Amino acid sequence: MQQERFSLDSDFKLENTYISLPELFFSRQLPSLVPTPQLVLFNKGLASEISLPESFFTTEKGLAFLCGNQLLKESIPIAQAYAGHQFGYFSTLGDGRAILLGEYVTPSGQRLDVQLKGSGRTPYSRRGDGKAALGPMLREYIISEGMHALGIPTTRSLAVVTTGERVYREQPLEGAILTRLAQSHIRIGTFQYTYRFGSTKDLQDLADYTLSRHFCSTTSIDNPYLYLLQEVIQRQAKLIAKWQLVGFIHGVMNTDNILLSGETIDYGPCAFMDTYDPHTVFSSIDTEGRYAYGNQPKMAGWNLARFAETLLPLLHENREKAILLAQDAISDFGRQYQNYFLNGMRAKLGLYTEDEQDPSLINCLLNLMQRYNADYTNTFYRLTTQNLSDMDLFNSNDFKEWYQAWQARLTQQGTSKEAVTSLMMQSNPAIIPRNYRVEEALDAATQHHDYDVLKALLQVITKPYDYNKIDEAYMHTPHTNGCNYRTFCGT
Ligand code: AMP
Ligand code: MG
Repeated sequence: MQQERFSLDSDFKLENTYISLPELFFSRQLPSLVPTPQLVLFNKGLASEISLPESFFTTEKGLAFLCGNQLLKESIPIAQAYAGHQFGYFSTLGDGRAILLGEYVTPSGQRLDVQLKGSGRTPYSRRGDGKAALGPMLREYIISEGMHALGIPTTRSLAVVTTGERVYREQPLEGAILTRLAQSHIRIGTFQYTYRFGSTKDLQDLADYTLSRHFCSTTSIDNPYLYLLQEVIQRQAKLIAKWQLVGFIHGVMNTDNILLSGETIDYGPCAFMDTYDPHTVFSSIDTEGRYAYGNQPKMAGWNLARFAETLLPLLHENREKAILLAQDAISDFGRQYQNYFLNGMRAKLGLYTEDEQDPSLINCLLNLMQRYNADYTNTFYRLTTQNLSDMDLFNSNDFKEWYQAWQARLTQQGTSKEAVTSLMMQSNPAIIPRNYRVEEALDAATQHHDYDVLKALLQVITKPYDYNKIDEAYMHTPHTNGCNYRTFCGT
């Protein structure tokens, strides 16, 4: 019977190097069978980018693969074990509703996890049903593809299939499975799990595996585990700066949702900020504002400190010295983040050069945006296109004063107007996946099986910097104040 599940032939192979790790790290697990799968979204662009044969995925066999009813011959599906601090509290977790089918190696040598999300119970499901509802899987597809187009490292979405099953949340909902691709699914939580339940040898195996999968060969490096910590810190600093620069609010920056590869993962209660306000929170479960927009850098630092703790046994045999090394590395996160953020903001303002007054120029603008309830994305877009009307911010004398200072700074750097505009156009998206637009697309798809609204949205949000073809309808701010918008966990 099991043999029949592994019957698919295809032009591409899946490997599974993760199973070279001790069994502590995973459980072999087949996806649950689903009754009547249907392909509702397939990412042709992504498939062609990484040379996955579209012709396979649009057949019955492809559908059987994407819903987990059949697997490639010789593949070894697993669920991964991990732990995590959820809103500050440690829990033992693991893939409770996801199965790693294997790793696909692209022709250029990039190794990508192929994971089914929503494919049934696993040994880590706890009280959950292992399933996912259609709305949240479509949401992840939309936002992850939008993030990618914005130039932000992220897991990708290859397909969404409906399963023909009902899943029960507050109400019965249509079941669905998302096929997610990621550089890997190794999380801070994977290290926390190993630190808590494994031996130092297990920890070293995981660290070595992570180093060889994501970071260059370490044979010539003195302390490879310190290097691992430093590299992860750098990637987080870069990533969080990119989030801040487009107003992305993740919503659940728990340590189990932080990938060591530096990709964004798990688009549950995330959303993009409309009106600029560092206190913005969308998630209904984040009652304390732990993961508010303005708190994201601080929380990333907190998460990295949890990561550093797990590496202590590897950093130095003397614990005191290990702690000093870890503290030293962690204390650099803030500086690195500030640098990436500052340089990103300079680019948003068309600045090629550095001046010590830049932080104050930038903060002044941000404060004014907050005071005049200015839309974050549209403010930078309007500064780029020099269309400074119709917003309270632009009509204020405070802004006029700031504008003079900005213009003087631009003159001082001595670059052409064209060069300034070109840098600003590359750095300021005209379009972001606005929350009300995403909800509208999800409503049409889940309530009326109408995918046109969603596909139209995908068209525009996957070209966010294309100033020549802007559909202004997608630039409108929500009619109601965006701050009242709430998102819910993707379960
Ligand atoms: P998330 O909030 O999606 O990052 O998930 C946190 C943890 O809950 C992970 O271990 C998930 O695998 C698990 N989980 C979420 N939803 C379900 C579900 N429906 N069934 C089983 N486990 C789940
Ligand atoms: Mg998660």
